[in-house]
Amino acid sequence: MDHLSASQINLYLLCGLKYKFQYVDNLPKPFKSSALAFGSVFHSTLSWIHNQRMSGKDVPRETLYRIFDADWYCQKADTDIRYKEGEKELTLSLLGKEMLELYLLEPQKELKGSEVHFSVPLMHPATKEKLGIDLEGFFDLIEADDTITEFKTTAQTMNQGDVDGHIQLSAYGYAFEKLFQKPAKGFKIVNFVKKKKPKIEVFETERTAVRYEEFFFLAKEVFKGIQSKTFIPHTGYWCGDCEYGAVCPLWKHLKQPEKKAVEKECATPY
Ligand code: SF4
Repeated sequence: MDHLSASQINLYLLCGLKYKFQYVDNLPKPFKSSALAFGSVFHSTLSWIHNQRMSGKDVPRETLYRIFDADWYCQKADTDIRYKEGEKELTLSLLGKEMLELYLLEPQKELKGSEVHFSVPLMHPATKEKLGIDLEGFFDLIEADDTITEFKTTAQTMNQGDVDGHIQLSAYGYAFEKLFQKPAKGFKIVNFVKKKKPKIEVFETERTAVRYEEFFFLAKEVFKGIQSKTFIPHTGYWCGDCEYGAVCPLWKHLKQPEKKAVEKECATPY
């Protein structure tokens, strides 16, 4: 193991067993949740918009929709998509386009980079203790003034507390400082809420040295857990979307009403 990403850290903290199924055992995924597929299509379409804008080009609606539809098609061709009860592909597709329209109405910022890859050594910011592995990932968007923007598509609204403690933003801020040898100017989460009447929420936050120390501590404990093969399952509403439910000892024997009860009783995920 030579690297960790913020999403691997989040997954380990959410459910250690799911982390093991995905990253240690490399089990095939029999399906993809509609939420994951939608998020992936939406992100790649946003990235296309940003690249167009950075090249000084327009964003013709017809092309934009074609790109969105083509990405949906690729998702379907790749694997089975599992929709939620009452959810339809067409409704999701229309919702996605409505959300893209809303985004195009937002004030435009000057941009520095879209989907920017990073790989930096994981090191305690004060003591310089090294973990011996890299932190890897992608910045969704870096604005010209060095603001890091992360895009989310969620069914629920977020709040400022979620954003202030967001592990991904701490990881990105840490990586930005290592890559560019200066702190990010600011941090933003743009959350697209997938309601019947969709909306965009924009949250701004900041990161201090203390947050980077917390992040290093988390990464170190997760790394120790993985190295010692500690993979503890954690049930909650996320189990309903888990691709490994059929092999999970805590999930596979439950009847539908029991599954519904677990999903209701969950704690908030990371
Ligand atoms: S079904 Fe739930 S507890 Fe089991 S591996 Fe998946 S997320 Fe973890």
